[in-house]
Amino acid sequence: MGSFRPHGRARVACALDAGRTLQLTSGRSGIALALRHLGIARGDEVLVPAYHCTSMIEPVVWSGGAPVFYRIRRDTAVDLDDVQQRITPRTRALLVVHYFGFPQNLVALRAFCDHHRLALIEDCAHALFGEYADRPLGSYGDYAITSSMKFFPIYDGGHLVSAYRDIQRIDLESGSLAFEAKAAINAIEYALEYDRLGALKYMLASVLWVKNKIWDRLKANDPEKGHRAHGPSAADGDYAFDPGWLMKRMSVWSRLLMATVARSRITAKRRDHYMALLDALSALPGCEPLFPELPRGVVPYVFPLLVDEPERVFPVLKRQGVPILRFGEYLWEGVDELVCPVTADLSRRLFQFPCHQELRREELAWMIDRVKGALAPGEEQSSLSRRRSAAR
Ligand SMILES: *Cc1c(COP(=O)(O)O)cnc(C)c1O
Repeated sequence: MGSFRPHGRARVACALDAGRTLQLTSGRSGIALALRHLGIARGDEVLVPAYHCTSMIEPVVWSGGAPVFYRIRRDTAVDLDDVQQRITPRTRALLVVHYFGFPQNLVALRAFCDHHRLALIEDCAHALFGEYADRPLGSYGDYAITSSMKFFPIYDGGHLVSAYRDIQRIDLESGSLAFEAKAAINAIEYALEYDRLGALKYMLASVLWVKNKIWDRLKANDPEKGHRAHGPSAADGDYAFDPGWLMKRMSVWSRLLMATVARSRITAKRRDHYMALLDALSALPGCEPLFPELPRGVVPYVFPLLVDEPERVFPVLKRQGVPILRFGEYLWEGVDELVCPVTADLSRRLFQFPCHQELRREELAWMIDRVKGALAPGEEQSSLSRRRSAAR
C-alpha cells in the first residue's frame, strides 16, 4: 500500500496478506472450517445475510449452527439495527459479505462484534483484493474466506484466513492423484478455451453450465446422486457443500498458478473494465448502477446493474449470449420479502455483468452494445415484428 505503479495506479491489497492462511479447495470449506474452529455446536446461532448464495448457508447448517438471516440496506451494507434485534444468548458469529468487491464498513462491524462478543467472519469470495481504511479486506475478521476461482483461472481453490486466530494448527490432507490430475487438466482447458473462444463466450458456457448443474440437482432431489468423487462441488459449479472436501488442500496446480499470476494485472484490468461499463451504462434510462463510483482500493468482482424491467430484459440478454448472473437468484427456504425487502428486490433486479481481467476490448464493446439494445424500450417488439414481417 502507498506505493504506486508507474502509470499511477495504486497497488491494491490482497486478503491473502491479511493474516495466516490455509489453502483449501473452495470458499465454502473455509466457512465450514471457521465455524468448526470456533466450536459452533448444535443450537448456536450464526447471523448470515438474507442476500446470499446457498453455498454460504450449507456449511452453517453442516456445522450444527442455525442460520439467522439479517437485513441488508439498499447499498448492500449490513443493517446493524436489524442485526442487533436478532442477537440472542445463543448468537456466536456474524458473517458479512463484501458484495461484488465493495467493502462493508469494517471498522463499525469490528466494534459491533467486539461489543457483543461475536466472532466476525468476512466473506471475501467477491473481494480477494481490496482494502478498507488502509488495511486489507480479510484483516478485520476473526476469520475470512476467499473463493480463488472467481479471480484466477483455476479449477479449485479457496482460503481460510485469520489475522487473529491460530488456524495454522489445522492439518490439511492432500487430494487424490485423480483430483490433482483433474485440476491440472481443467486449468489447461481453461487457458485454451479462453484463447479460442474469448473470455465472454467461455464465461457464457460456464454460466449455462452452472445453471444446468443446479437444475440437475433440483431434479435429482437426491444429494448423493450428484456426488462427484474427483472434485469438490464448488469446482464443478454447484452450490452444495460436501464435507468430504473440508480438510483437503488446494491442488498443486492451483497453488502454483496463484503464486505466479500477476496480481497487479488482475486488479488494474478489472478496475478498467468496471469503469468502461460505468461510463457506458450509468446514464442509460431503465437501469442504474448499484455502485456509481469505484473508490480507490476497490477491485470489483463484477459490474452490478439494477434493471427496471428485469423480466423483459433478462431473457433478451440471455438469448444474445451475454453471460449474466443474478446473485441471490436462489435463496434459502423461508427467506422472502418479509425477511428482507431489499434482498427480494436485488435478487430480482440486479444483474451482474463480467468485468473479468481476460475480457477483450471488443468483447466489452459488444456486451455494452447488447445491454444498450436490450434496455431500449420497444427493442424486443420491433425485432419481433421485423422477424414476423420477414416470415410473411
Ligand atoms: C461463491 C461464493 C461463496 C462460496 O465460494 P466457493 O469457492 O464457491 O465455495 C461464498 N460466498 C459468496 C458471497 C460467494 O459468491
